[in-house]
Amino acid sequence: MRHFAVVGSGPAGFYTAEALEKAYGDRARIDILDRYPVPYGLIRFGVAPDHQSLKAVSKRYDKTAESAGVDFIGNVAVGHDVSVAELLDLYDAVILAVGSPHSRKLGIPGEDLPGVIGSSEFVGWYNGHPDYADLDPPLSGTHAAVIGNGNVALDCARILSKTRGEFDGSDIVNHAIDALDASAIRTVTILGRRGPHQIAMTPKELGELGHLDAASPQVDIADFPPVEADDALEPGQRKSISILREFAATPPDAAKPKRMVFDFFAKPLRIEGDGKAEKIVVERTELDEKGGARGTGETYEVPASLIISAIGYSSAPIEGVPYDDRGGKFLNEGGRIADRLYAVGWARRGPSGTIGTNRPDGYEVADLVAAAMPPGSSSDRQAAEGLKSLLSSRGVMPTDYDDWRKIEETETANARPGSPREKFVRHDHWLETLGRK
Ligand code: NAP
Repeated sequence: MRHFAVVGSGPAGFYTAEALEKAYGDRARIDILDRYPVPYGLIRFGVAPDHQSLKAVSKRYDKTAESAGVDFIGNVAVGHDVSVAELLDLYDAVILAVGSPHSRKLGIPGEDLPGVIGSSEFVGWYNGHPDYADLDPPLSGTHAAVIGNGNVALDCARILSKTRGEFDGSDIVNHAIDALDASAIRTVTILGRRGPHQIAMTPKELGELGHLDAASPQVDIADFPPVEADDALEPGQRKSISILREFAATPPDAAKPKRMVFDFFAKPLRIEGDGKAEKIVVERTELDEKGGARGTGETYEVPASLIISAIGYSSAPIEGVPYDDRGGKFLNEGGRIADRLYAVGWARRGPSGTIGTNRPDGYEVADLVAAAMPPGSSSDRQAAEGLKSLLSSRGVMPTDYDDWRKIEETETANARPGSPREKFVRHDHWLETLGRK
């Protein structure tokens, strides 16, 4: 028998557990650890609440969680309650699938002013992440800005622009829907440091902006190269650009009070305000020979009392695990960090790709594990039993699969009509539901 610990229960963790189970069958036990009593990481806390079809992938992970060789062990923070070195003593291999929970910093003056928040915080707030339940983003001004031209920037801009009715069927948490409903924001400026051809937004997500009840996209055709230049783009990007061109050709709908303004070739220089964010000073850019953003020296101001920086994420370092500061991920070679220690998903590659990208990633790392300790080989490690007695000596009470299902049943029962669930937004509330407090 082999014993594996997968740390993190998001897509990367579950695909890896699935792959290990396929490779080892009943000759391995796989424990999926998470710091929270509920699983699914990015699916629960990252994917937008109005994108329920994307969240449906968790049904596949349910199957893995229900299989005989897999256990879910929640409420255990690796690096805090138990170290990676201790896990390596207890298990044959440890696979870090901890994702990239932190927003990358802009590195410009004024970034720490109240009103400037990272996308991980804003997304966590509307998705019921317990760390951000008290974020209280300032929504009383009329202007907001989102920095970045990726899908997360689009998510943030769209959530700021939707009406209460447009959240029907979503699992946005109550505190967010109430605050957004009362929001005074009428203009969301989406700042891209390069041009339309360089966006990292995908067509489906971009297309949604053309069908919002109260908001219209606004794009300036002067930002585009000649239309013939679109031929050189790969098909997905070409589709995105054609959607942007359509937005540019359609005057904003006068009946809709909100605007989502695409401001291309705009590089944030600094954020200014009297004790809180009031505006961003940006420099007009142009493309250099390598396609990068080169400042032109021309500057102007974009008013915004809420500024969301959506420029990518980084993993949280864990003591004793080599970390790549620039890449914001663990130092690894093809997923291998050190003997018996591996990384998968964003912790391995950095924050890129779709949910599905994590599947081959998890399978690849499971192959590495299987090559190092072939199915059929065995060890006498203590695994879950040893972990539980270590945690108990530290006063940490892990939760299990039944606890997760009990929380899920309560969240489903508490849901607004039409919504799949009303998530608990505090760690204490999860534990209270389990009678642990
Ligand atoms: P991303 O796709 O890497 O986009 C980051 C954006 O930030 C880029 O436009 C980048 O511009 C810009 N940026 C980086 N540093 C900057 C700086 N210092 N100043 C100004 N702009 C800066 O990251 P993401 O949006 O966080 O998304 C992460 C991953 O999740 C992506 O693979 C994304 O597709 C995926 N995702 C998918 C969905 C979906 O499928 N619905 C939803 C959300 C996220 P440059 O290109 O100039 O560097």
